[in-house]
Amino acid sequence: MLVFDNRFVRELPGEDARNDTPHSAGTDPKVPFPPDTTASELSPIESRQVFGACYSWATPKPPSQPKLLAYSKEVAERLGMDDAFIHSDAFRLAFSGHTLLPGMQPFAMCYGGHQFGHWAGQLGDGRAINLGEIVNAHGERWMLQLKGSGPTPYSRRADGFAVLRSSLREFLCSEAMHHLGVPTTRALSLIQTGDWVVRDMFYDGRPRLEPGAIICRVAPTFVRFGNFEIFAARKDIANLRKIVDYVIRVDYPNLIENTPNRAAPKTELNAEIYAAWFEEICRRTATMIVHWMRVGFVHGVMNTDNMSILGLTIDYGPYGWLEDYDPSWTPNTTDFEGRRYCYGQQPQIAYWNLAQLANAIAPLFTESEPLQVGLHAYMNQLQSDWNQCMANKLGLAAFKPGDQSVAGDESLCEAFFDLLKAAEIDMTLFYRLLADYPLEAVGNQSTEERVATVREHFAPAMYRDADQGPAWSVQCARWLVSYAERIVTEKISDSLRRDRMNRVNPKVVLRNYLAQIAIDAAEAGDNSELLALHDALRRPYDDQPGKERFAEKRPEWARQRPGCSMLSCSS
Ligand code: AMP
Ligand code: MG
Repeated sequence: MLVFDNRFVRELPGEDARNDTPHSAGTDPKVPFPPDTTASELSPIESRQVFGACYSWATPKPPSQPKLLAYSKEVAERLGMDDAFIHSDAFRLAFSGHTLLPGMQPFAMCYGGHQFGHWAGQLGDGRAINLGEIVNAHGERWMLQLKGSGPTPYSRRADGFAVLRSSLREFLCSEAMHHLGVPTTRALSLIQTGDWVVRDMFYDGRPRLEPGAIICRVAPTFVRFGNFEIFAARKDIANLRKIVDYVIRVDYPNLIENTPNRAAPKTELNAEIYAAWFEEICRRTATMIVHWMRVGFVHGVMNTDNMSILGLTIDYGPYGWLEDYDPSWTPNTTDFEGRRYCYGQQPQIAYWNLAQLANAIAPLFTESEPLQVGLHAYMNQLQSDWNQCMANKLGLAAFKPGDQSVAGDESLCEAFFDLLKAAEIDMTLFYRLLADYPLEAVGNQSTEERVATVREHFAPAMYRDADQGPAWSVQCARWLVSYAERIVTEKISDSLRRDRMNRVNPKVVLRNYLAQIAIDAAEAGDNSELLALHDALRRPYDDQPGKERFAEKRPEWARQRPGCSMLSCSS
């Protein structure tokens, strides 16, 4: 039995006086949505500017032939859904937006955002519809959200639908990220709609019909930085305060409990709590970014409307996974020129986005200092998480900074990244091969022996064997000597070091071409690749016999193929 408790729509102001859904003014929102109501009975949705409201009611468009392609067992369990329910018609119909379950009250959120560095005004859930909040047996609150279920008041000129390729990519990636230990929204299900959607994938005047699909995303909340920016931009401070207070009470309750001037439950929160809240968002965002850098994830569109207020990875669009190590790499074709959202820029961009959030909530503060403190905390958290991350990735217990007299781990890491940049080398594979490297033997080898071992050992991570050249192997052999010296101070064996490293350096990540293979098969009606890949991504740090093909470097055919190395926002 799923228990819905739709606190967001109950406690926050919604758009009123619009007659395009059964939830128009005058309807009691507590009354469950009639299960057999379909959008076809409703009047058309009109895109509009929505003022003074956190959301508008919205109704999913019923798909013609919904078919369940994949689901996450772990998410289903978390929500209290058993296997029988997952495989029932009720599930298929509810999570494709065909028929609502009792207690669901679908709505779309109003938010704005900075896109590619510029204020873009109102955006909002243009192709996402929240169904309602489940409170599970452990008292956890989970918002369920369909993505790709038709237009809402925020769809602007777009259609509100999503295609199979992008839905499959979001489904797989959010689950992959979770299993990698990266904070992320989750995905419950991937359902093909049976309807077709027109998309011009590379905006080059060659539109085609693509199969439509819907995922059900799950997170404690889908509130983004943009939910606050929209009220600040409109100078609607009363509603800004309402949504800030709401998010703190619901999603950051510890901050209220831990503050000495503890606010009584129904009174306004104070500036001290706002400051602690902003700092916590900054810290969580820093931690998330370091995880991205650790696993080689490139979000691709870090606009402020794609930044979760919980520090979760959200909105998987033209994301990609770094294969050969190149900090300037971006998967997003729209960003090829400026490379604003490339791998290496992500820490700076997150900071910039946090500064926009600080500007948005500034009207709740009498001085700017607490916001500066928060931004400063971001930098500190980023640095300390990153240092620890690099220590872990190299098998060190802790990062030892240097001083004037001794070169510390900074120089070891710097030389390491020079090495990664100097050859076309696969980052993921390189760390796993490094974990396996016979480091104990390095001290007793001649230079020639070291270079020969390096050439042979790292060959599986090299993209262009012939181009690699002897220079790289010499550079690598030299670095291994300093690495071996550093490892000696840890007093650990090669096998212990390997265990440590393999716990943080994944073997299986969602390589861009692997997702594309699953997409090609699914578009041809075969979801076995999708299921096999999904399964492999559930244990990314393990050696999984029989699944080696998911842990190999990108084949040459995938180098320039759309979807494998280049993606657009069109989804
Ligand atoms: P994104 O690039 O996914 O962050 O989307 C930016 C904005 O465009 C958000 O407000 C989306 O809801 C909206 N959007 C993107 N694709 C569509 C679509 N197919 N239909 C309606 N709105 C969309
Ligand atoms: Mg978005």
